[in-house]
Amino acid sequence: MAKPSPYKTKMREQPPRERIRNFQEVPYGYSPDEAMVEAQRCLQCKKPSCIQGCPVEIDIPGFIGLIAQGDFAGAIRRLKEKNVLPAVCGRVCPQEEQCEKFCVLGKKMEPVAIGRLERFAADWEAAQGEPELPQRKPTTGKRIAVVGAGPAGLTVAGDLIQLGHEVTIFEALHEAGGVLVYGIPEFRLPKFIVAREVENLCRMGVKLVKNFVVGTAKTVDELLKEFDAVFLGTGAGLPWFMQIPGENLNGIYSANEYLTRVNLMKAYLFPQYDTPIQRGQRVATIGGGNVAMDSARTALRLGAEHSIVIYRRSRVEMPARDEEIHHAEEEGVEFQFLTNPVGYYGDGGGWVKEVECIRMRLGEPDSSGRRRPVPIEGSNFRIPVDTVVVSIGNSPNPLIPSTTPGLETGKHGNIITDELTGKTSKRGVFAGGDVATGAATVILAMGAGRRAARAIDEYVRTSRW
Ligand SMILES: Cc1cc2nc3c(=O)[nH]c(=O)nc-3n(C[C@H](O)[C@H](O)[C@H](O)COP(=O)(O)OP(=O)(O)OC[C@H]3O[C@@H](n4cnc5c(N)ncnc54)[C@H](O)[C@@H]3O)c2cc1C
Ligand code: SF4
Repeated sequence: MAKPSPYKTKMREQPPRERIRNFQEVPYGYSPDEAMVEAQRCLQCKKPSCIQGCPVEIDIPGFIGLIAQGDFAGAIRRLKEKNVLPAVCGRVCPQEEQCEKFCVLGKKMEPVAIGRLERFAADWEAAQGEPELPQRKPTTGKRIAVVGAGPAGLTVAGDLIQLGHEVTIFEALHEAGGVLVYGIPEFRLPKFIVAREVENLCRMGVKLVKNFVVGTAKTVDELLKEFDAVFLGTGAGLPWFMQIPGENLNGIYSANEYLTRVNLMKAYLFPQYDTPIQRGQRVATIGGGNVAMDSARTALRLGAEHSIVIYRRSRVEMPARDEEIHHAEEEGVEFQFLTNPVGYYGDGGGWVKEVECIRMRLGEPDSSGRRRPVPIEGSNFRIPVDTVVVSIGNSPNPLIPSTTPGLETGKHGNIITDELTGKTSKRGVFAGGDVATGAATVILAMGAGRRAARAIDEYVRTSRW
């Protein structure tokens, strides 16, 4: 076999100066030729270490080998055996921490661009028209309620409908997709991609009931009277604040609210949609994860002159994906590392005017393994701002646990589950995704959904708990 090129095949992108003026997707994706060239870098290892790094165990050399031969239909079929949302995962999965981290090529050169190839195969299929739907097993007559239409709920629904069960998804919002539609911005994940996947599930027979808040419209116990099992995939949508002085001033948003107004309520489509949102000139985003990068890059696209990320550790400890940090830097997002807000000052009219910060240094590692940020006394300074987006984390909403007797929760309000089956402390009720783990990733939510679907199938067939 010819020696592979040391570098990944580049993916063409919108230039930074242009893209901060629009919400269109940043990378363009591979052409068929580019995909085949990249796929030929794969060594087709006999013991492929890349698969170990994939939470849903995709046959990575298998689908890449098919792309290398130009059999794109075969490649997408192989991918879909293990992943129901390849167009989503190819775009947003942290491959550098998963499959690509374990690719043998990565030891001496750049790993195979597994995520880009996954995206290519999924986009190729979409360009061919309506996809073939998987075969459904004969109807079992068993009814399953799925609460929440995020990646966890959609995976459970897709797997159970194929097994012949009747599946109804109850979603609180007016669109299905969870964080994929209300959180991750259009320029990273175009919404038509999520809508297409949801539509395919409905074509397969899944019933989708939108604008339905379980815990208010109906309780879990009421659902258990109508359905044979209930899956809770309600995510972690309750934002944290720092509880510092001035945090209730106007112009200070949680990232959830800010991104929901832009994505789900379509502020990004101004002037067709005149969604109320502060289009600040000096926007500070607090935090260092994907959500913070999405908020800071969104602020630029809404017209901010300065979009400033304030993060209490250094660049090395940032939890955001490398690609996101790189794109943010290219676009001109400014970073204040080793800096933490301690309070906000208003303009006298109720709006935020300044954020007071303190410089930090890194001390000993904490329970997360990262070095603990320690304030440097007397180093306080202020940054003028007109908008702040607080993006320091989320936990699950307490509504369902508080209306469901017998459902056990953990310290941060997460529903306690058996990791292998998603079984909760309540008979007939399963859970998975961010509601069980706390805020995590799309692929982990999908992996949890898949395991729960297997366990639900067994439970409704045997009644064994
Ligand atoms: C801005 C942002 C960027 C991110 N970027 C990435 C990334 O690049 N890569 C990555 O892998 N992960 C990323 N994540 C994390 C990832 O999106 C989540 O881990 C994943 O979506 C969790 O899936 P889920 O199905 O558990 O929950 P969610 O996606 O949160 O879906 C839960 C659904 O349940 C609904 N719901 C909640 N309560 C009720 C109720 N009582 N009744 C009915 N419905 C209810 C919600 O409306 C929602 O639609 C990001 C998260 C955010 C917020
Ligand atoms: S480890 Fe890398 S080179 Fe080997 S099969 Fe997986 S993707 Fe291909």
